[in-house]
Amino acid sequence: MNKIEHIGIAVKDIEASNSLFEKLFGEPHYKVEEVESEGVKTSFFKVGSNKIELLEATNDNSPIAKFIDKKGEGIHHIAFDVDDIEFEIERLKKEGFTVLNETPKKGADNKLVAFLHPRSTNGVLIELCQERVNKE
Ligand code: ZN
Repeated sequence: MNKIEHIGIAVKDIEASNSLFEKLFGEPHYKVEEVESEGVKTSFFKVGSNKIELLEATNDNSPIAKFIDKKGEGIHHIAFDVDDIEFEIERLKKEGFTVLNETPKKGADNKLVAFLHPRSTNGVLIELCQERVNKE
């Protein structure tokens, strides 16, 4: 794994949170994106070389809606940049982690992503992401 790619924060109202985080960082978000398959609307902020992703549920079955029901707003996942997501999925399965997406899926921000179940990672939802430059 290369580095933390971004940290995802679950919010109830992404418009309100966009203004809040704009005040916090002193700069507005640089993009919004809806990932229909996941039932989320996202926005991204740059903080130096780091990125923060805000996630709002777009329907009640969205994993973000379920997360907020259970735990309230807050840090939802930590995403790590990887060069070869298929290799990492195989490697982590062999190490005993519960991989939620055996086949990587298209995530926000032009990434291929896969998640590890928090039960296998001390309660932290881990996202692997690989830039989709050379992959379709
Ligand atoms: Zn993410």
